[in-house]
Amino acid sequence: MFWWLDNRLEGEDPLSETNGARKTVRRRAPRFDLIAGNVCLDFVNTLDDRHIKPKELIETYVDLARFGEDTGLLEPTQADRLCERSHIARDRAQQVLLWARELREAIHDVFWAIMNKRPVPPAALARLNADAQSAAGHMRLIPVKGRFEWRFDERGDFDSVLWPIARSAADLLASDQLPLVRACSSKTCEWFFLDTSKNHHRRWCDMTRCGNRAKVQRFYDRQKKASS
Ligand SMILES: [Zn+2]
Repeated sequence: MFWWLDNRLEGEDPLSETNGARKTVRRRAPRFDLIAGNVCLDFVNTLDDRHIKPKELIETYVDLARFGEDTGLLEPTQADRLCERSHIARDRAQQVLLWARELREAIHDVFWAIMNKRPVPPAALARLNADAQSAAGHMRLIPVKGRFEWRFDERGDFDSVLWPIARSAADLLASDQLPLVRACSSKTCEWFFLDTSKNHHRRWCDMTRCGNRAKVQRFYDRQKKASS
């Protein structure tokens, strides 16, 4: 139910009932590793190695727009326009960048607490609530194929990329999939993902990124033990 992806159809006549699932032609190689299966969790992962040696992957507003493009929240042309404007309206873009990081940390803190069966920090939940409410103010109903869908409007605002992220976090919190939110078993990684695997036993963010590394480590540990 990734309804926010429908925003990729922007630019076509929104009232037309013939809007098909037009595929976006990507012009740039993706910049972000999108392994989470949910955009708000992928967003959390933009602070890499969070608990060991945090590395910020959203250093500038341009990074934020590129994240929007990689995740399909923004069309490449929308991302380009926002990037260009971010060099002109620097203060506003910088402010939205800081909001974005605050929202990201709020989403992290809420899901981290739930995963670890701890009380959800009220400040984090309040922040997420405020952003989800603000996002809802930018939504409108659009007729599509004989029914209606929620779509976001005014995609030209710097913070428009944050609306679907806040909304997806709110939707996930209120969904049956909440218990499927996990962190990678690698203690140096702990990237978040939605475990939609058949048996719900997924341990790694990505097998090649962390799973194989852990396998190799176990192999060496066993060898060391055998030779001692
Ligand atoms: Zn990992």
